[in-house]
Amino acid sequence: MTKPAPRFPLPLDRVPTKGRAPEVVHPQRPLREAARSNVAAPSGVGLDSAAVRARMVQRLRAAGIDDERVLAAFDAVPRHAFVDSALVNQAYEDTSLPIGFEQTISKPSVVARMLALLADRPAASIARPLGKVLEVGTGCGYQAALLSELASSVVSIERVRPLHERARANLDALGRHRSVASIRLVFGDGLRGHPPNAPYDTIIAAAGGDDLPATWVDQLAEGGRLVAPWHDAAIGGQRLVVIDRRGGLITRRALDAVHFVPLKSGTQ
Ligand code: SAH
Repeated sequence: MTKPAPRFPLPLDRVPTKGRAPEVVHPQRPLREAARSNVAAPSGVGLDSAAVRARMVQRLRAAGIDDERVLAAFDAVPRHAFVDSALVNQAYEDTSLPIGFEQTISKPSVVARMLALLADRPAASIARPLGKVLEVGTGCGYQAALLSELASSVVSIERVRPLHERARANLDALGRHRSVASIRLVFGDGLRGHPPNAPYDTIIAAAGGDDLPATWVDQLAEGGRLVAPWHDAAIGGQRLVVIDRRGGLITRRALDAVHFVPLKSGTQ
């Protein structure tokens, strides 16, 4: 049995509520430092994955992503290291790719758009514009790695245990190449957010439901921004929604049409 999701739209004058059951937390081992040049290119992605990745970054720039910090994050994280070896040839194309359990690693252009929206909030620091970030839907861990380039700390929740474990293995195996923010991987239902580390400066969801959980907005810090896919009945599909909490007010904007995997309740 699944629980009904919290309702959305939220009343704009909603007062945050507090205190929900904590999730089981699996703190990640400290990420190993490794020289960037030590990240090996797998066979099939070409001899020089850095060059293929640089071309992906150029395409993101050409598509209108102009935040250099976001572009640098895409340049720094090897997407091919997060996908099945049969898919490495497609790792730097602008497509979503299967990661098992009917889930997909999101399309780079959409991830870049979401990260740029989060980095653009007025209260953001220059160096770590995402501050303390909550990600709902760890999947294979690729976006968590990107977030760690832009945030001061990352909490990422996944409801499918084997994916949660694979993300940890992927992030551990990669080692990291620069000083990055800590990544805390949590196995649990992200519909509840993650109260133990709340509030968050930024929240990003990689799965979309009919409703946007009120708990996420409750866990957003003053000056914080949330970006998530949300089902817009007016267009009969998902759109990116941006929610800001500022001066005690919650504001909401619906932007681009997108297509994300479903946000589900409970764990698997
Ligand atoms: N950011 C991921 C994308 C994964 S796809 C990446 O870079 O790979 C979206 C993920 O959201 C899936 O793994 C799915 O299992 C997860 N998901 C869906 N509903 C969820 C929920 N309520 N809580 C946590 N994760 C959820």
